[in-house]
Formats: sequence, structure tokens, C-alpha cells
Amino acid sequence: MNRADEPPLVIMMGGGVESTSLAAHSLAQGREVVPIHVHCGLIWDDCESLFVRRFCDAKQPDGMQPLIEIHVSLADWLADHWAATGRQIPRAGENGAKLEIPVRNLTLLSLAIPHIAALQATELAVGTTKENSFRDGSRAYFDRLGELISIEVGRSLSVLTPLIGQTKTDVIRATDRDTLAHSFSCVDPQQDRHCGRCIKCGSRQRAFAEAEIEDPTDYVHG
Ligand SMILES: [Zn+2]
Repeated sequence: MNRADEPPLVIMMGGGVESTSLAAHSLAQGREVVPIHVHCGLIWDDCESLFVRRFCDAKQPDGMQPLIEIHVSLADWLADHWAATGRQIPRAGENGAKLEIPVRNLTLLSLAIPHIAALQATELAVGTTKENSFRDGSRAYFDRLGELISIEVGRSLSVLTPLIGQTKTDVIRATDRDTLAHSFSCVDPQQDRHCGRCIKCGSRQRAFAEAEIEDPTDYVHG
């Protein structure tokens, strides 16, 4: 189907399995994808940006539009949060509640609003899965975010969560190896590689094992 007349789909690229999968599937369906990535000055953001750039470059032949990168440091605002200081980074097996970053989705989407306003987009997608149990990960939250962004940009815009009924394991099963190899989910990267020991590397490794898919990730500590 020719979808050339459709407005572009804006995807918030956090580098993880979820947003890379979402972008790859959307491109495969013929959608024009505009990727937006926010670098907030958190301890893993330099490495995350690197992975997102590599993935977006690799997908340009498939119609990926140039990456929009937003650099706004939230490190001062997050004060002594481990994501800003690098102290007491949660390790694999620790309570997932420690991953919470205050008002994460509201912050990221707000920072993207000026770019969304400049595009003709009416749909913005995020890679949230059903494993997001934080207060900003529900459909109700995204519905209200969509209403707020619509007011800001002066047209109706929906925040889509196509993966909200799936787990990370489900997403891995449904995604090709090359896309998975381009994804990034580590909160303590070393020399631009996944550490293999942090809480995010732990959940990544567990999901690949559950999916019974060979993990293509290059871990410092395998
Ligand atoms: Zn890690």
C-alpha cells in the first residue's frame, strides 16, 4: 500500500529493544518515521545517543527520516538521583522500582513538542510495554499527554503505545536480529558497550533467555 500521503509517524527513540522494534516494524509497513531522541545528560545518555544514531543511519535506506536530537541536561534537576550521579546504580536482580526517573515521559514528550509542532505529524509513538508499572506508563496517562500536546501544537495528536500489551520477551520474539543488535538498554555502559551487570542489562538478558533467542549484545561482563 502506498502510504506516501500519510503524515509521518514520530517515534520517541530511547534506544531500547522496544523503540527500535517499533521503528523497524513501522518502516516495514511503509510508514515514514521521524525519530526523536532526547539526551538528558544522564549517565548512559552518550552511549544511548550513539546506538540511536547508528540504528537510524542503518535504517535510512528503509525510509527513516533524519534523527532529531534534543540535548537538555536534567542532571541538576534530578539532583542526587543515581541516574545523574552514577552512584549506587541498581544492579541486575534489584527491585525494578529503583529504575523510576521522576516524571520521565512527561519530560521527554514536553521537550519534543517544538519539533512535533513543526512537523505535520498527528501520531507520536512510544515503546512502552505492559511491564511499565510506573504511574506515567498507563494508557490514561498517554491519553492526557496527547490532549495536552494537541493543545500545544494546535491540532489533534495521539500518543500511540502499540506495544503496551506486550512484554519485552514478546517484542524480542517479534523483532529481527539486526534491529535487536542495534538496540541499547544499559544504565552503566563502559566504552560504549553494555555493562552486563546493571538492572537493565539483567532484564535484557532475562528477556532474551525467555524468548529463546540468541542475544546479539556485546556485554563487557558476559
Ligand atoms: Zn548494563
